[in-house]
Amino acid sequence: MSDDVLVINAGSSSIKISLFGPGGADGPELQLAGQVEGIGTAAPHAILRRASHEVLIDRSWPDGHGPSNHDQTMEYIVRVLSELHAGWKPAGVGHRIVHGGSLYREPTVIDTTVRADLEALIPLAPLHQPANLEGIDAAAKAFPDAVQVACFDTAFHQGHPWVADTYALPRDLYEQGIRRYGFHGLSYAYIARAMRRIAPEVARGRMIVAHLGNGASMCAIRDARSIDSTMSFTALDGLAMGTRCGQIDPGVLLYLLGEKGMTVAELSDLLYKKSGLLGLSGLGSDMRDLLASHSFPARQAVDYFIYRATCSAGSLVAALGGLDGLVFTGGIGENSAEIRARICRGLSWMGLVLDEAANDTGGPCISKSWSAVSAWVVPTNEERMIAISVAELLRVTTDPDRTEQ
Ligand code: ADP
Repeated sequence: MSDDVLVINAGSSSIKISLFGPGGADGPELQLAGQVEGIGTAAPHAILRRASHEVLIDRSWPDGHGPSNHDQTMEYIVRVLSELHAGWKPAGVGHRIVHGGSLYREPTVIDTTVRADLEALIPLAPLHQPANLEGIDAAAKAFPDAVQVACFDTAFHQGHPWVADTYALPRDLYEQGIRRYGFHGLSYAYIARAMRRIAPEVARGRMIVAHLGNGASMCAIRDARSIDSTMSFTALDGLAMGTRCGQIDPGVLLYLLGEKGMTVAELSDLLYKKSGLLGLSGLGSDMRDLLASHSFPARQAVDYFIYRATCSAGSLVAALGGLDGLVFTGGIGENSAEIRARICRGLSWMGLVLDEAANDTGGPCISKSWSAVSAWVVPTNEERMIAISVAELLRVTTDPDRTEQ
């Protein structure tokens, strides 16, 4: 068996894989990355690249001949990987799992109990958790000798102070699991780790990380621990997103259900798929298109995105009792100097002075040296975070010296 770690991110109609070799002092090293998308549709498509971006596979299937479920997709992936390296087997497989509830606070080796716990959490993440479980099952079948590890999007946020973990609802609902879990935790864990290297004094202090992508959230981090986050019970809360509404008065939902006769399914579709930048602009959910557009609703959608992000940052500053650094990440955070600049300008009241030139070239530091609060751009890498966690777990489970401690 190799020392390789295979990272699997299984969505409802796609499986993304990344293969990491043992690497060096900096941890696991990416070797291959790819995905099969459109699983179960008429036109699935597979792409696999080396870390150098050299394309190894780029294929579609004739109508109805592609993989129609996760099991078949994993079989295809295994076949491709073994054609590249005959007899290859990973030592560990890391799975991105959207929900670990309040039970799971760290990466965990998957056994039948863990799997059953994750299945019980499906009602809390009905769109993502079933696909994650299918990924686990397919990988366990494909690589029965590998250690399967669950890495949770919620785990980094476990340990929030109680006031940041609850809603003002009757207490028994909290006990039943209606809590502010928070998501994007693998991204935040990666950034907290990266900041230890990039700016250790900020990493040890009070930091807000803005993960601005199609899904978007912010996290308040003190001394590398999450203390609050804008996403909460589900990944709908907080900032406006590509197609998700973000923060909303629950009275609106009661009104839509009670007065407008919407069904729960229609409401879910509205909030998850038709709102956010798409709903406001009427144009689309891609921030690049909105920034390039001269349409008034598109500009208003961008204004709303920035307004909510700025207000949310202000609220998290209060939770932290001040701020040392603001870090941008995610597709929008990493790539849009304009969005970063507008959010930073909205926070100039706390002494954040943007370095416009550094912001235009992408940082990593995008604030002036005399700024009271520093600002940063740090690309996230959730797959790498999973590979690091799996490699560490493998070391602990296979190194007798470590297990005796
Ligand atoms: P996901 O949440 O699906 O992982 P990403 O983090 O990949 O999303 O971010 C996707 C978003 O990033 C899209 O809205 C896309 O428009 C935006 N984006 C990517 N590049 C740029 C850019 N140069 N300027 C503005 N937005 C960008």
